[in-house]
Amino acid sequence: MADEIYFDNNATTRVLPEVAEVMLPYLTELYGNPSSIHRFGSQLGQKIAKAREQVAALMGAADPVEVIFTSCGTEGDNAAIRGMLEAQPNKRHIVTTQVEHSAVLGLCQHLEKKGYRLTWLSVNQDGALDLAELREALSDDTALVSVMWANNETGVIFPIEEIGSIVRAKRIPFHVDAVQAAGKLPLRVKDLPVDLLTISGHKFYAPKGVGALYVRRGITFPPFMIGGHQEKNRRAGTENVAGIIGMGQAAEIALNRLAEDSPRIKILRDRLENLLVESCPGSRVNGDRQTRLPNTLNISFRYLEGESILVLLDQQSICASTGSACTAGSAEPSHVLRAMGVPPDWLQGAVRFSLSRFNTEEEVDYVNEKVPTIVKRLQGLSALGRLGSEERPQPDRGAATGRIAVRG
Ligand code: PLP
Repeated sequence: MADEIYFDNNATTRVLPEVAEVMLPYLTELYGNPSSIHRFGSQLGQKIAKAREQVAALMGAADPVEVIFTSCGTEGDNAAIRGMLEAQPNKRHIVTTQVEHSAVLGLCQHLEKKGYRLTWLSVNQDGALDLAELREALSDDTALVSVMWANNETGVIFPIEEIGSIVRAKRIPFHVDAVQAAGKLPLRVKDLPVDLLTISGHKFYAPKGVGALYVRRGITFPPFMIGGHQEKNRRAGTENVAGIIGMGQAAEIALNRLAEDSPRIKILRDRLENLLVESCPGSRVNGDRQTRLPNTLNISFRYLEGESILVLLDQQSICASTGSACTAGSAEPSHVLRAMGVPPDWLQGAVRFSLSRFNTEEEVDYVNEKVPTIVKRLQGLSALGRLGSEERPQPDRGAATGRIAVRG
């Protein structure tokens, strides 16, 4: 078994050795600038063109020219949303969901403060959207609809084709944040009513610092980054040559292995889920179990703090996540779980396990062996926490338990 049992692949993935290998020459000997006139630099254009084809194939785009390289998913989301607003300066309304990643959520909150009108679509207790709410929200003033393909915390998948059909019927641009979907689900964007789509390399075994934005041919796309003429004037800035070539390779591998990897990872995820639910009384799975990414499990342990569980898991070399944003040391409950109406008793105790092709059955069984003991121990402390302070014996506050927050 690996030293680190890594179950936090929705946060980031390990770079594949095949990816690192193709990148290496571009970090060492072939360090030219693709915009240079001399051959040493300009020859890199062909390599970037190949990567564009590989990424277009992963997206299922009709034409590689529809792919613009970016620095990350956050940039793709920002470029898409801001671009559509700039292209339609008279329109002041944006539709998105309450459960987006902060790359969209934070930007839309910012735009709301700047005077845009926002519709925040709600989700039900399974994390699903109500499409009637979407239909009702659209108007002549709507500049764009931005909806994620799959949720990073719960893995819940939205019906992108159906949503896109509703949006396209109103001739409104539709952006999809597919950062968590790429490499896990077939994308086939050319067959979908989608105008813009964001992906990020580090979620599918490419390095951090490179991503891509799909912009359908015919869509007016004012650039977000302005400067040089790179990316056909759609994204200025010297290309991250090694990163782009690595992401191209990762995209090709992801596409080739999708049919094989996804079912194998799903079997492991389901094994983990079933074992944990069985061995941990007071646990529940968050999000629709049928319509979910194959690699993601979001599970809540009643009355507990997800962060406390993570600290104890970390001591067993297990990496997982709460899936929620933490601000200045205080754990905010997840906006996704809150939007789903997860009851307060369960809200703080969420843990996200997200698997990759590197995980094994042995690792799943190791996690299942450790989690119930940790949960039992914390549930004991939590029960004490609910007693009055004068009757509460002091828990052992060794280094191991120093960060445990006992909830009342
Ligand atoms: N969108 C989703 C759904 C994500 O999960 C993430 C990252 O976790 C992002 C956007 C941001 O991507 P990046 O980290 O590449 O900026």
